[in-house]
Amino acid sequence: MNSPYPHLLAPLDLGFVTLRNRIVMGSMHTGLEDRFWNYPKLAAYFEERAKGGTGLIVTGGISVNRRGWLLPAGGTMNGKADVANHRKVTDAVHRHGGHIVMQAMHAGRYGYQPFSESASRLKSRINPFTPREMSTARCWEVIGDFARAARLARDAGYDGVEVMSSEGYLLNQFLCKRVNRRTDEFGGAIEGRMKMVVEVTRAIRKAAGADFICMVRLSMLDLVEGGNTGDEIVATARALEAAGATMLNTGIGWHEATVPTIVTSVPRAAFRAATAMVKQQVAIPVVASNRINTPALGEEILASGDADLISMARPLLADPAFARKAAAGKADEINTCIACNQACLDHTFQAKRSTCLVNPQACYETELVYTQAARPKRIAVVGAGMAGLSAATVAAQRGHDVTLFEAAADIGGQFNLAARVPGKEEFGETIRYFRHRLQSTGVKVELGRRVAKGELEGSYDEIVVATGVTPRAPRIAGIDHPKVLSYPDVLLGRKAAGKRVAVIGAGGIGIDLCEFLLAEHSPQSVDSWAKQWGVDLQSSVPGGLVEPAPLAPIREVWMLQRKRGKMGTGPGKTTGWVHRIALQRHGVTMLAGVEYVRIDDAGLHLVHAGEAKVLSVDHVVVCAGQESVRDLVTVNEKGEPTDARHHLVGGAHVATELDAKRAIREGAEVAARL
Ligand code: NAP
Ligand code: SF4
Repeated sequence: MNSPYPHLLAPLDLGFVTLRNRIVMGSMHTGLEDRFWNYPKLAAYFEERAKGGTGLIVTGGISVNRRGWLLPAGGTMNGKADVANHRKVTDAVHRHGGHIVMQAMHAGRYGYQPFSESASRLKSRINPFTPREMSTARCWEVIGDFARAARLARDAGYDGVEVMSSEGYLLNQFLCKRVNRRTDEFGGAIEGRMKMVVEVTRAIRKAAGADFICMVRLSMLDLVEGGNTGDEIVATARALEAAGATMLNTGIGWHEATVPTIVTSVPRAAFRAATAMVKQQVAIPVVASNRINTPALGEEILASGDADLISMARPLLADPAFARKAAAGKADEINTCIACNQACLDHTFQAKRSTCLVNPQACYETELVYTQAARPKRIAVVGAGMAGLSAATVAAQRGHDVTLFEAAADIGGQFNLAARVPGKEEFGETIRYFRHRLQSTGVKVELGRRVAKGELEGSYDEIVVATGVTPRAPRIAGIDHPKVLSYPDVLLGRKAAGKRVAVIGAGGIGIDLCEFLLAEHSPQSVDSWAKQWGVDLQSSVPGGLVEPAPLAPIREVWMLQRKRGKMGTGPGKTTGWVHRIALQRHGVTMLAGVEYVRIDDAGLHLVHAGEAKVLSVDHVVVCAGQESVRDLVTVNEKGEPTDARHHLVGGAHVATELDAKRAIREGAEVAARL
């Protein structure tokens, strides 16, 4: 039979083990690996990905000793008790023909704990703890700890380990002059700086045997000052091959880098050139990574010879059956990762369990279960935004007879607006996914159909109201002046904004709107993105950092909020800084602590820092949050429906701090109970 993706789905014979395809689930910290009582949940999470046909799974980072902890009491592999916990995970994966390696890591100066250690006593700007400098003897001890962890991983049934030597963790710290100021055998020129990771590889090979995968995640682009050059990266790759590495995985950028590496505005496969640079210089397989989220793209990268395998961490969180759907020629049914970070990495930084915005079952496989309904019911879902789509499809999957009503001409709700923001085109993938899922689950869809209050009563057993939100109109004198535009009007192209624009509101939508006003409206090419952020993908200079190309903003924009303090903090930790830098570089004037006075022909009158000002703008765009639309139901003083057969989800339920993560989860949770 013809394979739809012949390179991506080709097995890979490593001599002692054969991977069933080239799809690697990259390492992703979920939070489950840090507590032994969560290992059954972790096993269920990986089992789903193995069942879904993934070729090779890499676990989240497991410390090789306590000083290497990222967070206090993080997952560790340094004793026999750990082996039993990990056994649950490896057995679950092997049951479905998958392979799994444990990521062996040492956080070095990223350890968020007082006992951290590193190549030199140099604090990172993203961590309050200063590491102590490792002595030469301590370096050898840590090498031994990696070897012991690998041996124990083998005992636990792992097919190998991935040695974490990128993203700025300990071994990456040793590799680069940025942190490595040592004068002993582990410092100096690249031969000394690479010694730590090379000796770790050699020791693992010796301790765990020749028939054990030793994949090294090597930083192929550091994106920090004092990072390595392409020559140094290639020299390290060759030395790792000689030391017995089975494969090399791609790591991109230190965590303290100020260049984005995985957010949605980074073009797909932006970093393949860095991987290709290494791949051309070694004979062992090399894995490409970062912003690769479709089988077609993975196939194209492999066919071009830029890499031998494709690593996808978040895309497999989003859809555990990615490989199976690709193999069945059903790529359109894949729930594509939109690189939002909102439920995965943002959770990690808040020390919360990861999950996925588009797949709330991720990491909750044993808790959010869609069982077959005991008694099929007639269910109406009103509103085909994210909450309604989620509720309708889960209810129908469970065997209910579901009709979805939508007043607009198409499904998607607020995601239709988000997908128009430059750099957020991925959001359109979720609409595509739900379009297929509505079909495959048999939901009856009535578009262009506005439901009146009471109309559905009597015809349905349950009514899920997912009617979403409406933009808030702030009480400012002149709010009905022709200069005032709503954000949906601007994003949907119903009204064009002039050259000078004031944006009222600096939440997620205010930021999106500014980016919409300032950028070209076509997906950015890798080249222009790299120039904009000052990235040399093949590191001809240390760290691959060059001067960013100057921007020629196409508008003058003011972004305003009434609260004092930092602006643009609405989006999560892992994405907010990218937006802030982008807006600053586009010359957006950000004013916090403003008091709006009025809008008239002269522009927007306000008071800022005690001073009255007039922003003489062509337009004022209002992004002042939203209010719930729920006129179909009667609610009590707590905002809950008075009729037990009515269910409010998403923005219709609570408009403040509405986000798609809550909308999709809430829709799924309600439908799982019906
Ligand atoms: P939001 O985050 O609540 O922000 C609303 C903004 O409007 C605030 O800056 C607020 O600041 C201002 N505001 C509120 N009431 C106002 C009033 N009466 N008059 C004038 N200004 C007022 O809402 P949003 O930006 O509409 O976003 C909605 C949801 O979608 C949020 O949860 C957001 O996180 C999410 N979202 C996330 C992203 C992302 O990239 N992660 C992107 C888009 C949307 P002041 O009250 O200080 O003036
Ligand atoms: Fe991808 Fe967002 Fe899901 Fe994370 S939360 S896996 S970035 S879709």
